[in-house]
This record gives sequence, structure tokens and C-alpha cells, in this order.
Amino acid sequence: MTKKTFCRIPGPGETRACIDPWIFVYVRANGDVDACCRGVTIGNLRDKSLEEVVNGAEAIELRRQVLTGELPPGCVQCATRPVTTVEKLGAMVEHLVYEAGFEEQEDLRRQIREHREVRSDLLRERESLASHAATLEKLLAEAREHAANLERERPHLTDHIANLERERAVLAAEAARRRGLLELLRGWFAQR
Ligand code: SF4
Repeated sequence: MTKKTFCRIPGPGETRACIDPWIFVYVRANGDVDACCRGVTIGNLRDKSLEEVVNGAEAIELRRQVLTGELPPGCVQCATRPVTTVEKLGAMVEHLVYEAGFEEQEDLRRQIREHREVRSDLLRERESLASHAATLEKLLAEAREHAANLERERPHLTDHIANLERERAVLAAEAARRRGLLELLRGWFAQR
């Protein structure tokens, strides 16, 4: 029976049971970005951003090599990861990608929920504003009707005021006439 150790060199159809190239980076003081703590360098931060390095051609090639078992020398000699089959590693990575996707989906679902709540609030506000606008429209129609009634009544009121003015003039003339008669009477009695 062959004893399995981390140092065993992977054979045909085998690879390292390693998911570091998908989940890990190691940044050195000189800017080198490694895919793991074993010094497999995939770029340098003096040349590219971290996002560009982890999504760059070297990182993608390393993932392909680990997935297919066409390992670079560093991974072939790696003493920290056991040997596994490419099928098993493929399943591990698939699960990892699924989990990552699931988290993204959850995040999207949460965002959708939040946006739906905001939309519901906006719809409620819109209904409330529409109801308020309808009330204002009704009040405005009533005010217009009232103004129209007042406008209709204005000529009558003007006539009424003119009649009152005329009556006042007649009464004033009558009062003057009576005051004159009174003065005459007073003069007549004074002479007697
Ligand atoms: S050297 Fe080892 S730990 Fe680093 S990527 Fe290769 S297999 Fe993984």
C-alpha cells in the first residue's frame, strides 16, 4: 500500500488539493502578490492593482494548472497540500464558486428586497399625495364656485347700494325741509 504524504508528487489525473488560488493572496513588502504562502507569484502591485492581479492572466493560468493537474514546479513540489484527483478538486472549486455565487445571489436578493420596500414607500407616498391633490382640487372648485356666486351677486349689491344712496339723499332732503319748517314755526311763534 502506497503511503500518501503531502510531499508525494501528483501522478496522471491527480493534482494538489488546493483552493488557495481562488481564495487567498499573500502580499509581500516588495509588492509581489502570491497565490499562497509558498511563493507562487501572480503579479506585483507596483505594476497593477490588486483586482487586476487576482483577475489577471497569471492568476487564471495558475487556477487552470491546479484544476487540470498540469502543475507548475512550485505546486508539484508543494509540501502543504495533499494529492487529490482533478475530479475531486474540480468538485471542491465548483462548490466554492457555487457558494460565492450563492452569497452574491443572497446579496442581490437583499438589495431587491430593499428596493421593493423603497418602491412600496414611494407608491404609498404617491397615493397620499394624489389624495391630497384631489382634496385641494375639490376645495379649489368650491372656492371658484363661491367666487362665481359672489360675482353674480355683485350687480344686485351695487344696485342695492345705489338705492340706499338715493334713499339717504331723499331722507336728507326731507330732514332739511322739516328743519326749515321748524325754523319758520319758531320765528312765527317768536313774533306773536
Ligand atoms: S504551491 Fe501549494 S499551496 Fe501554493 S498554490 Fe501550489 S499547491 Fe497550493
